[in-house]
Amino acid sequence: MSERILGDFDSGEKSNLMILVGALHGNELAGYKATNNVFDELRKNETKINGRVVGIAGNLQAIAAKKRFIDHDLNRAWKPEILDRVLATPEEELTHEDLELKILHGILDDLGTQGYENTYLIDMHTTSADNGIFLVHPGYPDQQSIARELRLPTVINLDVYLPGTLLKFMRGYGFNSFAFEAGQIGSEKAIDIHTFGIWELLHKTGIIDQSRDLGHLIHYEEILASLHKPLPGIVRVLHRHEIKEGDYFHMKPGYENFQTVSGGELLAQDKSGEIHAPMDGLIFMPLYQNAGNDGFFIVEEL
Ligand SMILES: [Zn+2]
Repeated sequence: MSERILGDFDSGEKSNLMILVGALHGNELAGYKATNNVFDELRKNETKINGRVVGIAGNLQAIAAKKRFIDHDLNRAWKPEILDRVLATPEEELTHEDLELKILHGILDDLGTQGYENTYLIDMHTTSADNGIFLVHPGYPDQQSIARELRLPTVINLDVYLPGTLLKFMRGYGFNSFAFEAGQIGSEKAIDIHTFGIWELLHKTGIIDQSRDLGHLIHYEEILASLHKPLPGIVRVLHRHEIKEGDYFHMKPGYENFQTVSGGELLAQDKSGEIHAPMDGLIFMPLYQNAGNDGFFIVEEL
């Protein structure tokens, strides 16, 4: 089985702490691989760090099983009622994701209470539809927020629809936390976007000297320029189509993230019949895999 801690670079200064989380969904390996790419280079070059950078593998058992999750979604489980139960249960009695949750909670609670001046948590994901490159940030990122440095579409109210996410949990420790979605599951480009996105964040936080490795920053500019379609800036969720057990939900093929849809447009089918867009907007996270409870969202640009 893979290692839980992908790397821990610590200068001893309590200035900055950045936590990188990959594969909280076990079939989304881009962030995990990207973290290893960056860490290999930090090790090789003995790069000086200002503060501490820790990389964590999310759902080790689901990674081994090549699945999003085994029993339940580990990125919907960070709720007091689940955590209280899991923390009170011995490890040997816990099911797959409950065990992952308990172990991750131990690591993050320890890191979360170390008293660093600036704290960041980057939770990296990929989606089952094409062109899913965006950030999930609860509320508008303020002027100083490091999330703005990535210059990607930012969804500001997804947390209202998806309770129990890791990023929301880490906000409880005062972390500047957001999810970083880099495109399609399994694509090489997603690994590239995460890799150079991490470099961008390390430089712009001052964790790495900005005058070093200018090639990384230039490559991130090139990636941004290559996202050929005009992407929205800040978006807000208007509607979520929830899937229930046994719905036999099937998305119409060919939808990409942020593609325009019209109210009434046929989007999907399930056992009860056709599913139409309830309003005009942009389609977001249309589901093209057999795991997950979100069929699609409709969002609007602000
Ligand atoms: Zn995910």
